[in-house]
Amino acid sequence: MSVEYKVYRPKRILNKHKRPDHWFWTRYTAHPYIGCQHGCEYCYWRESKYCPYPDPEDFSRLIKVKINAPELLRKELSKVPVGVVGLGDYQPAEFRYRLSRQMLQVCLDLGFPVFVLEKSHNVLQDLELITAINDRARAVVSFSIIATPESPHYEHLKGFEPAVPMPPRRFEAMEQFAEAGILTGTSFMPILPGIYDDNENLKAVVRWTRDHGGAFVLAGGLTLSDKQKAYFLQQLARICPEKVPFYEHFYPQGSYGPPRSYWNRLGQKVAELCQKYGLSDRIPRPIIRGEKRAVNKRIAEHLAIKTYRLELAGERGYRIWAYRKAAWALDELEQDVRLIYERMGVKGLESIPSLGKKLAREVEQQIHREASERRSSAKCIETSERV
Ligand code: SF4
Repeated sequence: MSVEYKVYRPKRILNKHKRPDHWFWTRYTAHPYIGCQHGCEYCYWRESKYCPYPDPEDFSRLIKVKINAPELLRKELSKVPVGVVGLGDYQPAEFRYRLSRQMLQVCLDLGFPVFVLEKSHNVLQDLELITAINDRARAVVSFSIIATPESPHYEHLKGFEPAVPMPPRRFEAMEQFAEAGILTGTSFMPILPGIYDDNENLKAVVRWTRDHGGAFVLAGGLTLSDKQKAYFLQQLARICPEKVPFYEHFYPQGSYGPPRSYWNRLGQKVAELCQKYGLSDRIPRPIIRGEKRAVNKRIAEHLAIKTYRLELAGERGYRIWAYRKAAWALDELEQDVRLIYERMGVKGLESIPSLGKKLAREVEQQIHREASERRSSAKCIETSERV
């Protein structure tokens, strides 16, 4: 397929979120290209709200290049508080324009942590730069992988991901990032129902991640809507036509996909497998070196994980929201939560917005847990220094 690049100079590059998201922990995102030559047939960027072209097929053929992305990023990041920046895009356009590399350099210069979600092993070309960012702030590299060669439907993968290097190359790259001391793992998304959601594939993705130095497997589902849905069903009919009736039934008209309970069961299975193989089913939060409110952030992470667990368990909405809001409140808190507790006890914790009596107790327990973890890690350092 011939690819056309359209170079332009946008006015802004940085998407700012009110608070870090609870999946990737990004506070900002910045994309150097619109459109993607990797051309995954399930890609949600083909939805009308993201795709700038009337024909979803053009998404992988017409690539808009934000040629001034690095200078815009420098200008915009220098005006905002430090937070994790989601960036990096190693589709073939990157070989020509090197915008992801220049944007990483900006993050390094300004001391911003980064989160890279990547489908290609080509991210390895910036391993050194990402290692330098990790040393100064933090870096996480997550590989998007939905199947391993052990999947009974592996032969279809080339159909779904026509221009992406196959998973073994991504796992090899993961291993190199892990060896460089960078937190890495798998974004197991979107899991395609009826194709890659079988126990064999779930287990193999988790095991391959563990065997290649990954620390987490983050599972997520496939959503289908408007022209992206029509496009996907068309491609499915070409790749594995026998699955079309299943998808028509599983993704009924007017819905984004199967009921929440299906995804919850899948998330639960991945969580159990991660536990079995010693991995996390959430991305551990990257906390910038020297962060003054590190304890607030770690407790916010604990509350966010709890939110996810309640979702998987099918808990009632108000309980889920109570935890989510409490996590946000801890993130937004200006003072160190330990100082509030030291000065005012649990009553002080109760005065934090969105923490009622029950959640204040939970935060109290976490403060104690943090303190005991710090004591035992200080002891380990002391012992190893003596040895
Ligand atoms: S690599 Fe990501 S953005 Fe590119 S087509 Fe595939 S899913 Fe879409």
